[in-house]
Amino acid sequence: MLYSVPDYYNRFKCIADQCEDTCCAGWEIMIDPKTLQKYKNVKGGFGNCLQNSIDFHRGSFKQYNHRCAFLNDDKLCDIHAELGSAMLCDTCRKYPRHMEEYEGVRDLSLSMSCPEVARIILSYGDRVRFLTKEKESESEPFEGFDFLLYTKLSDARNCIIGTLQNRTLDVKLRAAICFALTHDIQNRINNQEYSTMERLINRYKADKVVDHIIHKLQSYQCKEEERFKIIQKQFSLLFRLEVLRTEWTDATRSAFHELYGDGVKKYLTNRKHFLAYMSQNEELGIPYEIMLEQLYVYFVYTYFAGSIYDENAYGKMKLAVISLLIIQELCQARWQGKGSLNFGDIVDIAHKYSREVEHSDNNLKKMEKLFGKKKEFYFEKILIALLS
Ligand code: SF4
Repeated sequence: MLYSVPDYYNRFKCIADQCEDTCCAGWEIMIDPKTLQKYKNVKGGFGNCLQNSIDFHRGSFKQYNHRCAFLNDDKLCDIHAELGSAMLCDTCRKYPRHMEEYEGVRDLSLSMSCPEVARIILSYGDRVRFLTKEKESESEPFEGFDFLLYTKLSDARNCIIGTLQNRTLDVKLRAAICFALTHDIQNRINNQEYSTMERLINRYKADKVVDHIIHKLQSYQCKEEERFKIIQKQFSLLFRLEVLRTEWTDATRSAFHELYGDGVKKYLTNRKHFLAYMSQNEELGIPYEIMLEQLYVYFVYTYFAGSIYDENAYGKMKLAVISLLIIQELCQARWQGKGSLNFGDIVDIAHKYSREVEHSDNNLKKMEKLFGKKKEFYFEKILIALLS
């Protein structure tokens, strides 16, 4: 089995009661069958308490005020304290570690929904490298796994990540080039022209071709007023999604009002000042551009290869681009409200976005569906939102 991890993977350590959020709030935590059985066998007073606080029908921990029944006032886990880490269920033991599995390959990552992970990702100044290691482990047979397509998608992902990390280009241009590449890849997938994908990927690596693409992308620039209409619609996507915590609805509604409530002129002036402020913001400790690069790389690494299962590589790239556009809008709204924006604000925004959007399979599915249907997510509209 080949394992792949981002090079910051081992930096993560749960900060438990020091955490400003907690992974035990807001989510229904599902318990794996093996642990559920272990919980049934715990005796004594804590055993009673444990069994009374589990919904055995659903196989999850009960919640009180949207908090796991075992999350105590010190923001620590009672099961961990009473029975030790070996008695935690799979979800609690592994979170925020995440795994995507393919035939013979496991991609490990850290979920940005944990604020500590968001801090690691956003403070990472170097280009992220992905380390691979062969390890003996059982591999599930994957019926009908298309290994040829997986190889092509894997090559495409490497090319996209390489382009996203090309710091000689503006980050929005890097994202636009990758977006165009994925659009072309999707056409090849739809027509089952896998044999031409390699040539396509190599073309996107050639400097001459990249210059030509950059030239073509110029037609999507300087359309600020059109962008204003598009970005509002793209932002409104959040109002169509399942909400895990009610404060998220309040935060996104007030951000929408803050950004767009005073009309196009005011928005454009604010945006200009915001971008100028961010390009010189030394409080961040790391350039804003690099933070955006790390976020793009995070989304592409986590989701792109998963298109082997639904053949929707374009949808995965749209998820990355739209997520980044919305996160940047939320940053601008926070800056408008506060008059400043520091590293902690960006961590807060990115991890809450991830918690609400990435941790709901319903939301991820709904987004991909809307990306295919709504005009604001068409190729040209997304390029205008990225480049203007
Ligand atoms: S969100 Fe992350 S840092 Fe916070 S308690 Fe959970 S795993 Fe630990």
